[in-house]
Amino acid sequence: MKKETMNKETLYQLLIDQKNELSQRIEKIEADLKNRYVNSRSSQKAVDHSNDDVLGGLKNEAQTKLDLTDEALQRLTRGEFGHCIKCNTEINNERLNALPHAQLCRVCAQKEEGSAKPFSKASSMSHV
Ligand SMILES: [Zn+2]
Repeated sequence: MKKETMNKETLYQLLIDQKNELSQRIEKIEADLKNRYVNSRSSQKAVDHSNDDVLGGLKNEAQTKLDLTDEALQRLTRGEFGHCIKCNTEINNERLNALPHAQLCRVCAQKEEGSAKPFSKASSMSHV
């Protein structure tokens, strides 16, 4: 018989895995950005910086997700995890499986996505 709420240890493990993966991804992006910077300084030709923006956007996205993951871990430790921070509905297992750091239930998340899309905007920001 399946339990209604997800096993805390399973969720903790998922979040830790995700955190490690994101940290590695950020490190890799940072290394890529640094390499590009070094290469662009040593070469005379004009460098296409559009790719830097893409990498920067990816990094921002990973960083945001990492922050959410950290926060989820803290809330899990305090025993507050698994409920929507807006309406306090229990977030279902399916959603937690796909999105271990979820702070919102599906209904609230859909409302949020309808009004703002922070991730898709990040890559179009050109300031450094
Ligand atoms: Zn909600």
